[in-house]
Amino acid sequence: MSEKRELKFSTIAVHGRKHLDKHELGRPIRSVSTPIFMSSTFAFENADHGARLFAGEEEGYIYTRIGNPTTQALEKEIAYLEGAEVGLAFASGMAAEAHTFLGVCGAGDKIVSGDTIYGGTHALITTVLPRFGIRTQEVNFCDLAQVEAAVDERTRVLFFETPANPTLGVVDIAAVAEIAHRKNALAIVDNTFATPYLQNPIALGADAVIHSATKYIGGHGDCVAGLLAGKKDFVDRVAHESLHEIGGIISPFNAWLLLRGLKTLPVRMDRHSQSALEVAKYLSFHPKVTWVSYPGLKTHPQHELARRQMRAFSGVIAFEVRGGREAGRRVLDTCELCTVAVSLGDVDTLIQHPASMTHHTYSKEALAAAGISEGLIRLSVGLEDVDDIIADLKQALARL
Ligand SMILES: *Cc1c(COP(=O)(O)O)cnc(C)c1O
Repeated sequence: MSEKRELKFSTIAVHGRKHLDKHELGRPIRSVSTPIFMSSTFAFENADHGARLFAGEEEGYIYTRIGNPTTQALEKEIAYLEGAEVGLAFASGMAAEAHTFLGVCGAGDKIVSGDTIYGGTHALITTVLPRFGIRTQEVNFCDLAQVEAAVDERTRVLFFETPANPTLGVVDIAAVAEIAHRKNALAIVDNTFATPYLQNPIALGADAVIHSATKYIGGHGDCVAGLLAGKKDFVDRVAHESLHEIGGIISPFNAWLLLRGLKTLPVRMDRHSQSALEVAKYLSFHPKVTWVSYPGLKTHPQHELARRQMRAFSGVIAFEVRGGREAGRRVLDTCELCTVAVSLGDVDTLIQHPASMTHHTYSKEALAAAGISEGLIRLSVGLEDVDDIIADLKQALARL
């Protein structure tokens, strides 16, 4: 390009940083797609070269747990799309969270997290981390007074999802970041549901962003992976004080799948968002549906906030049918097109029951406190024709 101008999001998603940086991977052999370096180790030129790399005196690849060219291409890409200094990839979203918390917290430190979060995260925060002396407390992040009251002088991290899994509650990112910084803590956002295309927490003041890249970033339901993006000193600390020592790294092949997924992220997110809004509207007028939660609906309690901090509202909907839990399970069993499966953000429409599936780690009391009702059904609207998705829900609801 002759003229220097900022490229748009969709262009960067397709071309990545490699066309902006002469030294980027793949340049000498002019491969349009990023090569997959399925190599556990990398040969040194000689003994002295190896020693220099280990001593950090020279840049280069040593061993894939410490760094891999395909993985680093992905890490640069997510950092760029999230507006962060650097990125780091992990074997799963849970690995990204565990390493982030272990990298910055020690015994006696505290993590304050949202009470409405992914079930695995809830288990990590309430049962695993406390075994290592890390203090944790879950509060409702839609109520900033509760967040403020939970923070003490040893609080290192305020961690939350927005939109939250599975209720779709929306949290004010800028307001939580302001509380965190006033109290010398980090605001870390799980941006899985929104993706960097729809929401940029770092631009709103958050310190770092975590993804279950298994979901929208991969987008095709074929790999499990996690990502972190944030400031260099913080991300380096997570890499050096947790990931490199404990493990839990991504396979270079999965890193490549995510690089491929990122190329189509904007197109997919536009369609997921459009279709989900149509499905949410259809459900909200259905006589057998008692309530629908979708940030794009005017009836959503944080709709105005969602409009301010998101570009569109993504593809996940929560709803409940008349007859509660039993009737809800019958809807799952009578769907013909929607697949009964956990996970979300896939090309396929997925339907599941959080209380008995993704959020089974919650006690009855914790479910009630988080506003996850027994009858809540979570629907991840896929990329099929929206008329077919609605027709399937229509026939399932008719059989109730
Ligand atoms: C799925 C999910 C996770 C966990 O990620 P994995 O890739 O399954 O380990 C974390 N946060 C959210 C919001 C999720 O949906």
